[in-house]
Amino acid sequence: MTNYGTFNNPNNRAPYAKKIIAITSGKGGVGKSTTSVNIAIGLAQEGFKVGLLDADVYGPDIPRMLGVAHEKMRWSDEDKIIPSENYGVKIMSVGLTTPDDDTPLVWRGSVATSALIQFLDDVAWGELDYLVIDMPPGTGDVQLTMAQELPISFAIMVTTPQSVSCDDVGRAIRMLKESHITIAGIVENMSFFIAPDTHKRYDIFGSGGAKQLAKRYDLQVLGTIPIEMEIRERSDQGTPVIATGSEEIKQRYKNIIHKIYSQKENV
Ligand code: ADP
Repeated sequence: MTNYGTFNNPNNRAPYAKKIIAITSGKGGVGKSTTSVNIAIGLAQEGFKVGLLDADVYGPDIPRMLGVAHEKMRWSDEDKIIPSENYGVKIMSVGLTTPDDDTPLVWRGSVATSALIQFLDDVAWGELDYLVIDMPPGTGDVQLTMAQELPISFAIMVTTPQSVSCDDVGRAIRMLKESHITIAGIVENMSFFIAPDTHKRYDIFGSGGAKQLAKRYDLQVLGTIPIEMEIRERSDQGTPVIATGSEEIKQRYKNIIHKIYSQKENV
């Protein structure tokens, strides 16, 4: 059994960041990257200096979602990697290191974690108020390395309403708790759908999942985000909803962001 207690005193590979937020999920496809992007931009809109590290090494979607997928990695004269930047957020992802968008990554876990450590050590992030990390789903090597190498200020768990019945979420929450990482709360994504023509609400993935999880694990629900076509469309276009979308959705993200930056050091 992994002894998560060894992560009591992590290294600090990112002394340039005042706070480090890990955005996590039990499984893939729940909207973790979408949430990471909108939270990072939302914090930048509040005037904070923000970096976004795409640690989802096997599905690095962040460059596309932020409209920088065409950019390639650049090095400065001081031999530092220059991060991409858009919407006021500095961005680093293995997606920026591959020659084509569809280059397959067949790395072993150890190579993936070495790449992330290099991104922490060798990227010219500058001083940051927040380093937001889009973690891979689940509880693998990357999560363990991050918990070992960074003093994560807090984690945010992204779920869909039906995830409550999913063991993966419970496992991910327990891993964070056993690694002594504070969980700021749960974002329930794809919470409900309002039909644009009839305005009728449909609970496509069930309802109340985050509330039940929060109760079971003694956590707070930071907010709920509906299923909205514009969230998907704007992500695909690289123009995230918090920067370019409708006021209603922006406000939902802003309420979550407000709860995040009003957290005390250790929540
Ligand atoms: P993950 O990072 O958990 O794998 P993504 O953020 O990549 O998930 O989201 C998976 C897909 O679902 C993407 O196509 C994204 O645009 C879409 N998506 C995420 N959240 C929503 C939402 N609230 N409404 C509509 N589509 C969404």
